[in-house]
Amino acid sequence: MFLWAPEEEGDWPPGTASCWWLHHSLKSLERGLRALGSRLILRQGPALPSLRDLITSTRATAVYWNRRYEPAAATRDALLLRSLREEGVRGNTYNASLLFEPSQIHNAAGMPFRVFTPFWKTCLKTAEPRAGTVEPPEIPSPAVWPASLTVEDLELLPRIDRTVGLCRTWQPGEEGTAAALQEFVDGAMTAYPEDRDFLGIRGVSRLSPHLHFGEIGPWQIWSAVQARSAESRSPAVAAAGASFLRQLGWREFAYHLLHHFPHTPDHPLRPEFASFPWQPDAEALTAWQQGRTGYPLVDAGMRELWATGWMHNRVRMVSASFLVKDLLISWQSGARWFWDTLVDADLANNTLGWQWMAGCGADAAPYFRIFNPVKQSERFDARGDYIRKWVPELRRLPTEWIHRPWDAPQSVLADAGIQRGAAYPLPIVDHRFARERALNAYAQLRIGSK
Ligand code: FAD
Repeated sequence: MFLWAPEEEGDWPPGTASCWWLHHSLKSLERGLRALGSRLILRQGPALPSLRDLITSTRATAVYWNRRYEPAAATRDALLLRSLREEGVRGNTYNASLLFEPSQIHNAAGMPFRVFTPFWKTCLKTAEPRAGTVEPPEIPSPAVWPASLTVEDLELLPRIDRTVGLCRTWQPGEEGTAAALQEFVDGAMTAYPEDRDFLGIRGVSRLSPHLHFGEIGPWQIWSAVQARSAESRSPAVAAAGASFLRQLGWREFAYHLLHHFPHTPDHPLRPEFASFPWQPDAEALTAWQQGRTGYPLVDAGMRELWATGWMHNRVRMVSASFLVKDLLISWQSGARWFWDTLVDADLANNTLGWQWMAGCGADAAPYFRIFNPVKQSERFDARGDYIRKWVPELRRLPTEWIHRPWDAPQSVLADAGIQRGAAYPLPIVDHRFARERALNAYAQLRIGSK
């Protein structure tokens, strides 16, 4: 059974891109269950009455589900368990989405970790995660199938015209996941530590939406990576595998933090940041969202996000830094936009990423470390391939100027068919000025430089 109850997700019901993914993922799950002689029962509305209704119509004596760890969902699940118990129905829940239970890992003083490296070391010392389970050859059917909605009844598909790019880029569901995992393990994994930050190449797994929607569990990825490392008998491949698994460790850390600090999707972990002098600016926020800041790497990332529902981690960092530090717009505004537009929007990871960039979270980049969008572009998109793909107005500009078109001589712009500030905007803020302004704002908080 899949239960659609977005009103029970607190302030963070799934956004537009997530709903698109969910629609296709449910269609895929439905096909998979039918192939095993079973069906997917869909219900909509508050969880408890929907579940009660299903229990009555099937005379079920036990309910099994995988735990959720987002604060609102975890509270709802606890309530469900209690109510079922009171009604004489067994509720059995499992951890399928994390390697380690967020409450299981703690420091020597029994407290939650706030720094990643000791957290991950402790995880690795804990028992090795489970190996993958085997798919059942068939699932026994009930004598009479309970009533079900259709996936279409849930009306998940967005009304806005974004779906072409999403459909072209992704294959939600288990088949797409297996293909993506295999492709990564057989290919990019061996060069992951060197390639993962570069933009013109496929150096990362792109498994994030599949993981978020539970189409694959992290322990399945873990097993596939370990198997590939063992089979290669190469220390270099094993090291690349470990470096990739460390990224899954960041995901675990994000859930650990969300579990222990459930207020952090909306409020900074470091309370002194609550009084940060943000400067709300609707026009600048829109320019950032639409990829019209005049900084090619930031704009390429924001347009990739809109077109495909995904953005490379390096560009997530650069564009987030630009919003909170160059524009002094709150990280919460950026987190909300990512939440609506990412196909992998994930409350734990998104919160960690934004608080890390803003400098107000656990193990965060110090606030005074401000990404220079031009230097990042020159380093991680040296040939400008990524910018040319997503900012086609600049595609004819020579590589020397593509990272900072505002500096290009008039003759170069003319040869590239560009009129300064016309089709592509001039920078909405000067980075050097913005950097100083951000540092001054930071100084007002009188926070140490740790
Ligand atoms: P790979 O490099 O192949 O990594 C494998 C997996 O490890 C990822 O799928 C992801 O589950 C996990 N992972 C990798 N990097 C991180 C990280 N920094 N933090 C936590 N987990 C990580 N990730 C999301 O899944 N959902 C989000 O909503 C999200 N929002 C972010 C917002 C900001 C501002 C930033 C800076 C990062 C955000 N991330 C988020 C983390 C990261 O950018 C993505 O997980 C990654 O880009 C997904 O691509 P991939 O699957 O190819 O990653």
